[in-house]
Amino acid sequence: MKSGMLAAEAILAALDCENYSAETLGAYAQSVDRSWIKKELYSARNFDQALSQKGVGKFITIGAQYLSGGRGFVDPMEIKKDRLSLRKLENTTVPQTMSPETQDLDGKLYLDKLTGLYLSGTTHEENQPCHLNIPDQSICVGECFDNYRCPCIRFCPAQVYELEEDPDGSRRLKLNPSNCLHCKTCEIKDPYENIIWTCPEGGGGPKYSIL
Ligand code: SF4
Repeated sequence: MKSGMLAAEAILAALDCENYSAETLGAYAQSVDRSWIKKELYSARNFDQALSQKGVGKFITIGAQYLSGGRGFVDPMEIKKDRLSLRKLENTTVPQTMSPETQDLDGKLYLDKLTGLYLSGTTHEENQPCHLNIPDQSICVGECFDNYRCPCIRFCPAQVYELEEDPDGSRRLKLNPSNCLHCKTCEIKDPYENIIWTCPEGGGGPKYSIL
């Protein structure tokens, strides 16, 4: 919120003098550097990298960072692309979709995706430009299906991505962008970096006020 306020101040200053150069708008970066958020963010500079480690080492690293103001054992820690954590399928007979029986949904604590989505109160203007851009859909139904079985249809918590199959066996990716919960997992986790997530029009998305 604070960085948004600082951005608004920089934009207003640029509007006032009708100067939108990198130099004028660069005031934003300087004001962030001078603000208290810089200190807070700096102490968390290696936290996500530590959190992405596996096993007990994760907790030891996080503890070391806590005691050393974020430094830990290595500073800066390398940030690895999240999509690299995915492994290709070795068995190409893996079914296209997960069997519903494998999910333990009790309708109380564990809900199906669409019920959870309904409870989030997500809404978007239906006629706004699509905020999800997939430059090459042939990768989705071809290479990505063959190698990873289209992980977007599983990890997206809002069922934005669906894989449809025609009677002739051809596959098609169906998008439901107005379901989006803005978690941005798809852009980060897509193995082919073929999903470009842009901000939807303002005011849309989950009804955060009910949380
Ligand atoms: Fe799904 Fe991507 Fe929206 Fe997250 S950001 S809800 S993964 S479409």
